[in-house]
Amino acid sequence: MKREGIVFIISAPSGAGKTTLCKEVIDIFHDLRHSVSYTTRQARPGEVHGRDYFFVGQEEFRRMVEAGEFVEWAEVHGNCYGTALATLAEYRSRNIDVILDIDCQGARQLKEQFTGGVFIFILPPSYHELRRRLDKRNSDSEEVIEMRIENAAAEIRESRWYNYIIFNDDFSRALEELKSVIMAERCRTDRVLDAVGEMFELS
Ligand code: 5GP
Repeated sequence: MKREGIVFIISAPSGAGKTTLCKEVIDIFHDLRHSVSYTTRQARPGEVHGRDYFFVGQEEFRRMVEAGEFVEWAEVHGNCYGTALATLAEYRSRNIDVILDIDCQGARQLKEQFTGGVFIFILPPSYHELRRRLDKRNSDSEEVIEMRIENAAAEIRESRWYNYIIFNDDFSRALEELKSVIMAERCRTDRVLDAVGEMFELS
């Protein structure tokens, strides 16, 4: 059925399991894509330019901001991250559903810009578990981990204005909930009504 592509915006404090959840649903739904962001952060071991992020220098990032090339951008944990207008425009023109894994500041900017976006917040089970996951990940310094935990409370406070909250204490259940949100949003009457009218020649 033909319908406009949906933009799913997913936020969470780092360590809540958002990246893994996003990867899983993208593997499951072959017609769902991940929007690749730009960042000034250094690539972590195993991360690939163009797949995980477009890794750019601060000067290039600033140039893109000034040229209005981002639909949203924000400074998160000391680095800049942004979603390119061109990336979203490409998916929208092809009616492809897309997931944006972005922080609350960026999500807020998008909330103000379009009405059709679906805002999903992933919650970790507790601060204790958040720290355990960040320590286990072993990809950030102790200082960065402290900063991420300090920022978590402010981020969790933002969850109140999202459309859905998924509690990731149990990964399989959280994944089922995320899949359900995606499937339900795809069936919403206001998204499919035009297509139904065309298919069944309703005037
Ligand atoms: P990480 O460095 O762990 O990959 O990401 C740190 C944070 O930046 C995460 O909360 C992630 O969702 C957010 N982030 C990633 N890409 C973007 C983006 O394009 N825009 C915004 N606003 N945040 C982003």
